[in-house]
Amino acid sequence: MKVVFLGPPGAGKGTQAKLLAERKRIAHISTGEMLRAAVAAGSDLGKQVKDIIDSGKLVPDALMVALIQDRVKAVDCAEGYILDGFPRTVPQAEALAEMLKSNGVALDAVVYFEVSEADLLRRLEHRRGVEQRADDSVATQLERLRVYREQTAPLVDFYRAKGALTSVDAAGSVDEVYSKLDSALS
Ligand code: AMP
Repeated sequence: MKVVFLGPPGAGKGTQAKLLAERKRIAHISTGEMLRAAVAAGSDLGKQVKDIIDSGKLVPDALMVALIQDRVKAVDCAEGYILDGFPRTVPQAEALAEMLKSNGVALDAVVYFEVSEADLLRRLEHRRGVEQRADDSVATQLERLRVYREQTAPLVDFYRAKGALTSVDAAGSVDEVYSKLDSALS
């Protein structure tokens, strides 16, 4: 199973991706987590992306595409994967389509987590309190939302036009959303 999770920051994609990956025994590929790990390790990649991540802007497409191309080759992706946080721009989505095509595979679903603006702001505030992510200052979160609307939201229409989009109402508890996700996928 190969799935893309789409939705604004704070929609709960990461939490749902973790659950789905565990239950379906597929890989959870969170590009944000990969980048934060690179920053924490002080690798070349980490040094390249640190300031970008802290500002809430996007890492260049070419870098992200190369990262994903490499990641999906890992053994834990053999049974499938969830892309959580990639693609985030139309060029990334086009590069992903090319990559899948040349590997002779296809996405099973693109899940769009729909959430109201009010819920989103409430969740982001909550996350600042509990997760203590280094890149979760108010300014960074707001910039990420702006960047999402400008560069990532167009992917909803991109995938809808291909008939690939499945919407999941992201309101409710973790278990409630998971059960909506599970029925949307089956
Ligand atoms: P996330 O954990 O998904 O919110 O990602 C945290 C940060 O990592 C984002 O604000 C971006 O700076 C960067 N990032 C993650 N995924 C991507 C991507 N697909 N394209 C560009 N930048 C990304």
